[in-house]
Order: sequence, then structure tokens, then C-alpha cells
Amino acid sequence: MSTELFNVADIFGENVFNDTVMQERLPKKVYKKLKQTIEEGTELDIETADVIAHEMKEWAIEKGATHYTHWFLPLTGVTAEKHDSFISAPLPSGKVLMSFSGKELIKGEPDASSFPSGGLRATFEARGYTAWDCTSPAFVRQDAAGATLCIPTAFCSYTGEALDQKTPLLRSMQALNVQALRLLRLFGNTTSKKVTPSVGAEQEYFLVDAEKFLQRKDLIYTGRTLFGAMPPKGQELDDHYFGTIRQRIAAFMRDVNIELWKVGVSSKTQHNEVAPAQHELAPIYAEANIAVDHNQIVMQTLKRIACEHGMKCLLHEKPFAGVNGSGKHDNWSIITDDGINMLDPGTTPHENIQFLLVLTCILKAVNKHADLLRESAADPGNDHRLGANEAPPAIISVFLGEQLEDVIDQLISTGEATHSLEGGKLETGVRTLPELTKDATDRNRTSPFAFTGNKFEFRMVGSRDSIASANIVLNTIVAEAFAEACEVLEKSDDFQLAVHDLIKEYAMENQRIIFNGDGYSEAWVKEAERRGLPNIKSMVEAIPAMVTEKAVTLFERFGVFTKAELESRAEIQYESYAKAINIEARTMIDMARKQFIPAVIKYTKTLADTVLAVKEAGVDASVQAETLEEITVLLKEARAALARLEEVTAQAAAKEEGPVQANFYHDEVCPAMENLRRPIDKLEMIVDKEAWPMPSYGDLIFEV
Ligand code: ADP
Ligand code: MG
Repeated sequence: MSTELFNVADIFGENVFNDTVMQERLPKKVYKKLKQTIEEGTELDIETADVIAHEMKEWAIEKGATHYTHWFLPLTGVTAEKHDSFISAPLPSGKVLMSFSGKELIKGEPDASSFPSGGLRATFEARGYTAWDCTSPAFVRQDAAGATLCIPTAFCSYTGEALDQKTPLLRSMQALNVQALRLLRLFGNTTSKKVTPSVGAEQEYFLVDAEKFLQRKDLIYTGRTLFGAMPPKGQELDDHYFGTIRQRIAAFMRDVNIELWKVGVSSKTQHNEVAPAQHELAPIYAEANIAVDHNQIVMQTLKRIACEHGMKCLLHEKPFAGVNGSGKHDNWSIITDDGINMLDPGTTPHENIQFLLVLTCILKAVNKHADLLRESAADPGNDHRLGANEAPPAIISVFLGEQLEDVIDQLISTGEATHSLEGGKLETGVRTLPELTKDATDRNRTSPFAFTGNKFEFRMVGSRDSIASANIVLNTIVAEAFAEACEVLEKSDDFQLAVHDLIKEYAMENQRIIFNGDGYSEAWVKEAERRGLPNIKSMVEAIPAMVTEKAVTLFERFGVFTKAELESRAEIQYESYAKAINIEARTMIDMARKQFIPAVIKYTKTLADTVLAVKEAGVDASVQAETLEEITVLLKEARAALARLEEVTAQAAAKEEGPVQANFYHDEVCPAMENLRRPIDKLEMIVDKEAWPMPSYGDLIFEV
């Protein structure tokens, strides 16, 4: 743990090859060319790349780097990297030079055959390339491996199909840029040159003690507990949320922040979350592409620093049944290079016609493609949150807040919005407190897609998932809505009239997606059904949304995904679901067979001995005998459930890969897992704690 004092401003970005470093180190001409590539997407020639590579290497070596890596986001969900050292072939003198060429900087060729490609590469060629993404700055990471120059890259097949998250994300950003500029021009904006989606990802996580973690195979193999009875105290007191951060956790957070700041991640907010042992970290928002990379760095850093502090960081969406799960809030807005946030309503939104058009376009996009947004947040862990007994619901709806909902209502009822509700003053009843003005809108914590002042907050993304998919979908569906609006407006003779009509039309046609009430309530599920909104409860039910005709048309139109790419992604999703459930089932079988059942059998022996001894002593042994009886019944139930789980897991493995197998895991294996868990959790409540073979929920979440 570092305790020395430091100045954040001094260390922030010290390990990033950022604009300041580039300006300092690159010849003026080279710097200019690179800037042009970053800002306007012009191609970089190899001579320029050579100079940049050389300077980048010199800089990295000064930071202690011995290796470089093309850092990329394959479809496994975790970042991949292959490390090469800078050394060249030994010279005749026996010495080596440290070298790094432009070619090595801009292109890599990892042996990529073991990354998921959903059949894409098999049908073409086994080669995969990584290509330097100069819009996300390179950085030096310091860890046990020493220091490594990390170069963010995109990962494509020989024929150019995207095998990663970054490629389609960059494509979707381009699409949104083009359509948003087109819309701005219609409103007379001639100065903005570029529009980028800005993203701030709040990350939730759990911390548990490493020693206890290592005693649980479920945590080790699957990242979540597959068994475990609820402790006597849960989160009912709400005493953890925003509670004082304990010293051990505070020390951890401090180190996380230092590491993040050094690599340019602007970690800003930290607090305890709702569940015991649950915490949250949020950086300041950045361009979508950088935010996606940074979120990946955040997750890696949380895990690494937790280990250094004798803890383990759980990023799983639902590490503990019955305890709040973890997610990511993807805060999203659209900002121009000259600082205009297209989602900023101003103080009088009813007069802000451009904002109202943007807003109603987003309503239209979300209403039309709710299934795609839902899919973008699907991962095996999230099935335990979305649509299960927890937030956010699986139904996509939009929360606008009182002020905007009122404006939309005015538009729909009279065709004209004439006023905006105001926030007023906050009445505390205490004269010494400063007078605060209230926001015009309260918050809603149960909406999956909430307008929060000048951005939308998409709250469905799983805590372990990359935020890339969600942003790819958001960027593309909004680009489509903008494009469709522009097509109408560009043709009209009377722009003012046309724009009013369009806003009204969009507001009316997409009203069903707006919901300001309690998203967790049973009443909403019914109401949503009445409105015809999709309620997609599981990952396997969500995947088909990727390959509908609607989705293919959308993504192909904006060059974000080809049909083949979408199909391959759907295939990978099915595969990864099947694999995840298979691992969970096998872990349960292993734990039940080798740990729980033997432990309970052993305990019944102790109990039986006790019964006999007590009887022999001539005293009433009925309590002991009843306990033994109760345990035996549960033991039998567990044994039968174990046999059933073994049977369906074997059947699942033999199924045809793809939707058939994934659905079988969902429909047959998951319920069999539940059925095994139930008697074991009951046994945990009866069996002597000393005899239980692993730490309990209470040990894990209350004693960090
Ligand atoms: P909350 O109250 O939900 O915790 P905050 O206001 O603290 O939210 O912001 C949460 C995240 O949203 C942060 O990462 C923040 O930087 C980001 N954010 C703020 N403004 C914007 C914006 N205009 N676009 C995208 N993200 C934003
Ligand atoms: Mg939030």
C-alpha cells in the first residue's frame, strides 16, 4: 500500500502517450499528420508511422517498458494481448538494440485461431490482424510483468470482418457523426466539424477476502456463488449504501485510483453500493471509444489491486443470490467538437426545437429497436438481474422526468409546447442552509433508460460485460433515426413547419416507450404487455434480435455489421451462454459430490453417535434424532437432484451447438441447478457451522 503524499495533477496521465507527450516528442510535421488522422480519419503513411513508433518506444523505455502489446477486445469479453519485447536480433557484437517499427505499431498478426469468430474465419482464412487505433491513446502499464507499452488495436479477419468490439464501435461512431452533422446543418450550424458520442460508465463490483474466496470453487470457476444460504442480516437496513468506507476498502480504492490516474483514466467517484461488500467506481465521461477501453482498464485494475490487498474483486452480475447484483450504468450523450451537447435541453426545453427533435428521434430509435438494446446487455450473468426479481427490468422503457414528459404531453395534446415546468427552490426549513434550486425533475432509479439532465443513462449493461455492444447499438439506432428525420426535413419547403410536424409525429407514435413510474413493479409488467412492449427475460431469448431482418437492414445500411458478422456474433453468444452454464453445472456437481454430500454424511455419523450416546445415558434423544431425520431427508433430495443435474448436463453436451444447445441449457440445466441448490442451502441452515466445508454468505460479505 502506498501511503506517501502525492499530487493528483502530477501523476495524472503520466503513463499515457497523450497529446502533450506527442507534441513534445514528435517533429511538428509528424505530429500534424497524426492529429489529422486522429481527428479526420486520414490515412497514415508508413514513414510517419516509423517516426511515431520510434518516439513511442523511446518514451516507453524511459518508463521502464521492455515489451509492447497490441491490446484488443476479442469477443470473449476480456481483453487479449500478446507481448513482444523490443529487442532486435543480436548484433555481431553480441549486443541487442531496442527497436520498434511503424509496421509493428500499426499492424500485428496474433495467432488468432483460438479466439471466437462464430465461423467467420473458418470459412475464409485463419489469419487475424490487429490494427492500431490511434484515437485511443497508447499507455504504459506497470505490473508484476514489469512495464508494457499497450497499444489499443482493432482486430479483424483476413477479409476485413470484425472479430472484436472496437471495429463495429468505431464504425457506429462514424455513422452517428455523419447523421448528427447532417441534422445540425439543417438547423443552421455551420461550425461544428465532428460529433462524438460521449460515455461515462459507472462500474459496480464486490470485494471479498481472498482467503475465503479460495475456499469456494464456485467463486473460483464461475465468479459467483452457486450455493449459499442467506445470512441473518442482508441489505434490509440500507446501512451500507453510501456508508463510511472502511479502512481496508479505502486503502484499496486509493491504490486503484492512483493506478487509474497514471494511465489517464479519470476515476472520479467512489462509494459503497446497496449490497454489503458492494462498491462503485465512476470515471468522468470520455469519447465512447476511449470510455470502452477505459472501462476495460478499470475492470482489470480492480482485479489486480484487490489481489495486492488480499482481496478478490467480483465483477459478476450476481455473485450472491438474494443480494443486490452489479451492473454498469452507461451514461451517453452526443457532443460536438465545439462543445455543444445535443442532449442539453437548456432551461426552457419547449423552445429548444433542435433538442426536441433529437429527443423524439431517440424515443423513436429506442421504441423501434428495444429488442436490440436489450440484446446488447445480454450475458449469462445478467439473466439473474434483468427480468429476474431485480433491477432493472427486462422491459425497455424511457424515463423522461416530469419536465420533459410535460413538454411531450403538450406536444401530443395541442401540437405545440408553450411552457416548461420549473424546479423551484428547495425548502429545508433551516435558515442557515444555503438556498438551493431544485432540478426540474426528480430521479428515477428503476428505469432501464433514463434521461438524467443532459444525457441518457442505460442501466441494463452487466457489470462484467464490455460496454461496447450497448454503445454500438445506441449509436447506430440513433444514427438511423437522425437519417430518417433528415430525409424528411431536407425535402420540405417550410423547415419550421416540417420540423414541428415531425416532432409531434414522433412523440405521438412512440409514446408507448415512455414510462415514468416504478419499473420494478408487477403492475408495469402488465402495463408494458398491454402496450405491446417486448419483455425479453433471458439471454437465449434475446439473441435472435441480432439477426432479424430489421437488425440486418439497420446495421448494413450504416456499415456497422454485415449480415455475416451479425450471424457470427449470434453464434458466439449462443456458444458462450452454453459454455458458461456448462461450467456452472459441472462446478455444482463437483462441489455437491466432493464437498457438501460427504460433509453432510460425516455430520450424520456424528449425530447418529450422539443419538446413541444420549439414549444410552437414559435421556430423551428426540431432538437429536429429529435433526438427523430432517438432514437425511434433505440429503436424499440433494442426492436425487445431483443425479438429475448430471444427467441433463450430459445430455446438453451432446446437443447440436447453437440455439438448440443454448436453449437446452436454459430450459433443462438451469432448473436442475436450482433444484440441487435448494436442499443444500437448507442443509447449510441446519448443519453445524464447523462441519460446513466452506465460508458462508455471512463470512463472505460481512467480513471483508
Ligand atoms: P449518478 O448521479 O447517476 O451517479 P453522475 O452525474 O455522477 O451520475 O454521472 C455518472 C456518469 O455520467 C459519470 O461517469 C459522468 O462523467 C457521466 N456523465 C456526466 N455527463 C455526461 C454526458 N454529458 N455524457 C455522458 N456521460 C456523462
Ligand atoms: Mg447512475
